[in-house]
Amino acid sequence: MLTMLPQLTIGTADLAAAFLFMYGLKRMSSPVTAPSGIFVAGIGMLVAVLASFLYAFDVDAAARPFLVQNIGLAVIALGIGGGAAWLAGKRVAMTAMPQMVAIYNGMGGGAAGAIAAVELFGNKTHGATQLVVTLLGALIGAVSMSGSIIAWAKLDGELKRPMRFPGQQIFNGVAMLATLAVGGYLVAISLTAGTPSEPVLICVFFACALIVGILMTLPIGGADMPVVISIYNAFTGLAVGLEGFTLQNPALMIAGMVVGAAGLLLTLLMARAMNRSVSNVLFTNFGEAPKHTRGAIKGSLKPTEAADAGIFMRYAGSVIIVPGYGLAVAQGQQKLYEFVKLLQGSGVSVKFAIHPVAGRMPGQMDVLLAEAGVPYDMIFQLEDINDAFATTDVALVIGANDVVNPAARTDKSSPIFGMPILNADKAKQVYVVKRGEGKGYAGIVNALFYADNCDMVYGDAEAVLVKMIEAVRGLGLSAAA
Ligand code: NDP
Repeated sequence: MLTMLPQLTIGTADLAAAFLFMYGLKRMSSPVTAPSGIFVAGIGMLVAVLASFLYAFDVDAAARPFLVQNIGLAVIALGIGGGAAWLAGKRVAMTAMPQMVAIYNGMGGGAAGAIAAVELFGNKTHGATQLVVTLLGALIGAVSMSGSIIAWAKLDGELKRPMRFPGQQIFNGVAMLATLAVGGYLVAISLTAGTPSEPVLICVFFACALIVGILMTLPIGGADMPVVISIYNAFTGLAVGLEGFTLQNPALMIAGMVVGAAGLLLTLLMARAMNRSVSNVLFTNFGEAPKHTRGAIKGSLKPTEAADAGIFMRYAGSVIIVPGYGLAVAQGQQKLYEFVKLLQGSGVSVKFAIHPVAGRMPGQMDVLLAEAGVPYDMIFQLEDINDAFATTDVALVIGANDVVNPAARTDKSSPIFGMPILNADKAKQVYVVKRGEGKGYAGIVNALFYADNCDMVYGDAEAVLVKMIEAVRGLGLSAAA
């Protein structure tokens, strides 16, 4: 039993941590307050971690001789983990953030699974409810870990193509059933023999759960990754919350629930952005091979000079800019805003149109533009700006591809069919800035690039913007003033 003072301190610290998590999350809802939100939530995590050391007052007699050694190990583990994360966070390129988020999310699932493993192997659960909750957390955590690692490999380009085979969904279903059967057997043994500690079976259970996560994620390709990332985010939160229940640790429960709920909301938002129900994503499209081919796209690619496109926009009345993943690759956001300010100085109305799945991470484009100092009242989400393209002189598509692909509207065989797209093709003139004929994440041909009203400006986004800026400036002060 914890003595009164540490117990009170832990309770107060957990309450403070929970408040900081939720307040931090609230601040993350806007790019303006997001950095401070992350800081606040980080402080919450620090408080919760420090408070967890107070459980040292509660160890049972058998563990007491190892107390100093165990605290030392915990400090070393925190130092290694915290140090590695600090370094990785400092060094990571903006374009590699999605992979980093995926791998850290997987670590969270793995941590939940590790807690479950300690409880299960140590035969520490009390009663059927706690055992079921622990096993459920172990299953979800392990699935999230192995699935997130595959997601990381896909986002990082290590796994280039979805892996599919006939009957894959049935195979995946059988693997899932086998995992549940092993878990059920562990519960049955515990109820009859009074002990769930069957080390071999527990290993089989974890192995099956890890395999399920891999199997679930391997076939996913096309443009489904945003939903997958969000689902694993929710899974990790749920697993942590369940293991918090097992440990009777309020901070873990609250942190898990906050992450789980936020992940679930993100999943619903991402699914809506793809125009799919979550069940449709989970049980229908997973594993479905894309049948899209170039087909009968008419027209030709029409290259044009960056300077010509820049000057054309300088004399346009309105321009809508569609940023995409390529802008993040080029790190061209500062130059883009410099160009936009030149256009605005010449009386051109300029707006940004953001697709919910643009880039490789939910919100990546908003963060990118915020980094360049673009005012928020210039940034519009898909549903708020899509009708405006039809009355706009120029759509400047910069490093974006899938999010403006009209195949999503018309081609039933396309892996992105049904996804709402930005109506860039409806503008009077479209300029697409990209390096060559590289495809987008979904790996499909884009009919927009071949349309009569579309010209291609080939080159790295930042280099192209530099040329556009020079061209507009070259018109003279009066022209660009
Ligand atoms: P896309 O991935 O569809 O297209 C990006 C384009 O940028 C490519 O066609 C590429 O063409 C071009 N490009 C790459 N580097 C540069 C550069 N340096 N300068 C100029 N252009 C460059 O991006 P979108 O943002 O349109 O779409 C996002 C896609 O990613 C969707 O399919 C979405 O589902 C998926 N996704 C989104 C996630 C999210 O949460 N937002 C997560 C995971 C996947 P080229 O090589 O010819 O230059």
